[in-house]
Amino acid sequence: MRNPYAPYPPFPHIMPTIQASKCANCGKSVVPPRATCPFCKPGKGAVSQQMVEARGKVLSFTTMELVPEGFTAPRTVAIVELECGARVMCLCAREPKMDETVQLEERDGQIIVV
Ligand SMILES: [Zn+2]
Repeated sequence: MRNPYAPYPPFPHIMPTIQASKCANCGKSVVPPRATCPFCKPGKGAVSQQMVEARGKVLSFTTMELVPEGFTAPRTVAIVELECGARVMCLCAREPKMDETVQLEERDGQIIVV
């Protein structure tokens, strides 16, 4: 549980939680949230919406020099594993390090490593 005496939010521009869905059948969390569980058979994975801590560990990342039209290069994307177990593909505002614990932020529907 969060310390009730700590300033909240720690930084006004950082969203400390992020939306997820949790399956009642297998218990897995998914970010971004889905209407049904992608790990269970159709009709088995009823999900509930939850907020999870927007922080996780970098499992992998790559920097693309060639990007689709409308994007600026270079562009770094990372796979981040959240403490709830969900793995999320994120855009990066900076180049992360392997195994680094990073803070995530949701901007315009995209999940960003800040
Ligand atoms: Zn499930």
